Amino acid sequence: MKNDENKTGYFGEFGGRYAPEILTEALVELERTYNKLKKSPKFKKELNFYNQNYIGRPSLLTYADRLTKSWGGARIWLKREDLNHTGAHKINNAIGQALITKAMGKKRIIAETGAGQHGLATATAGTLFGLDTTIFMGEEDLRRQELNAVKIRMLGAKIVSVTSGTSTLKDATSEAMRDWALNVSNTHYIVGSAIGPHPFPVIVRDFQSVIGIETKKQFMKRNKKNPDAVIACVGGGSNAIGMFHGFLKDRKVKLFGIEAGGLGTKPGEHSASITFGKEGFLHGTRTLIIQDSSGQIVPAHSVSAGLDYPGVGPEHAYLAKTGRVEYFAVGDKDALDAFLEVSRTEGIIPALETAHAFVFAKKLAKDLGSKKDIVICLSGRGDKDVSEVIRLTGGR
Ligand SMILES: *Cc1c(COP(=O)(O)O)cnc(C)c1O
Repeated sequence: MKNDENKTGYFGEFGGRYAPEILTEALVELERTYNKLKKSPKFKKELNFYNQNYIGRPSLLTYADRLTKSWGGARIWLKREDLNHTGAHKINNAIGQALITKAMGKKRIIAETGAGQHGLATATAGTLFGLDTTIFMGEEDLRRQELNAVKIRMLGAKIVSVTSGTSTLKDATSEAMRDWALNVSNTHYIVGSAIGPHPFPVIVRDFQSVIGIETKKQFMKRNKKNPDAVIACVGGGSNAIGMFHGFLKDRKVKLFGIEAGGLGTKPGEHSASITFGKEGFLHGTRTLIIQDSSGQIVPAHSVSAGLDYPGVGPEHAYLAKTGRVEYFAVGDKDALDAFLEVSRTEGIIPALETAHAFVFAKKLAKDLGSKKDIVICLSGRGDKDVSEVIRLTGGR
């Protein structure tokens, strides 16, 4: 299977541009603009400026001594995307796409959000560059992630509460696409994960690949080698694909993507599109999707709003098929336990999304043994999840 994404937007048989005709022109314009910008030294310099002086990059690579001792296996390292301004990796992509918006001369940005981290990052980028900003968020997520919704409004952005479907991320994405189709002449849609029609999966991946590039350099400097394994949680797959791209060519580095296993293996109980999904089309791309036998999308479930999506970025579907990356599902209860365990052991409150990656890391650390090194992408901090965790655990 050949990967000729640069020509066609395909990763093997996955990806492509299956968008309504009304959006084709905007997608072609976006692709053209991005291809020009990514070769421009001025654009690279500008992106680098905001990475260093606004987001706070490079983010730390922290050796987690206490987790390593507590788990009694491989050495554990954490790539600290939680320390970025606004508290997650989403800002890497939001600033990059806001710069593209400026280059296209558009004055309005819109975005979908689940956990609210992408909404927060987009509202922040909108304020930074003086762009009119509207965020689409499902009603259920507005409840689960109230703190981020309040912050988004505080930053001057509008929130549209989405009440269709399950009132979560899939529905917010559909609603944002509809708005984009209506307002495409003055509006750019800042897609928040490595999903959607070409060129979004490539653009988001490229802006997030700073995670993997930095990690490789930082780890090499301290250890004079590559890590043995790298783990990231997978919702749409942007933090994972950004991290993995630093290591894809290093065949000895094992790569693991962790999906949300939710409450069980039946349709409707989880968000594990790679583990349990089938090939289909969602939001303009061909990928693995949680669907019933007639091709209807089955509502996803996860305790973490940021993983609660019934599809996955097409490049992950490709990497799963080729076997370069292995994907596993981790359930709600284990993720909640890891959220508290990591907080109490290492003094870092991780996002519920990231907690899924920690569950798998604990097991892998034992399997690999004390001579090996594991890097976990700590995709975001858990402040946004504290009230939901208290509700679910009774504050234990
Ligand atoms: C949004 C989010 C995720 C999931 O999104 P990906 O695109 O799969 O990275 C994971 N962790 C955090 C902290 C998030 O905010």
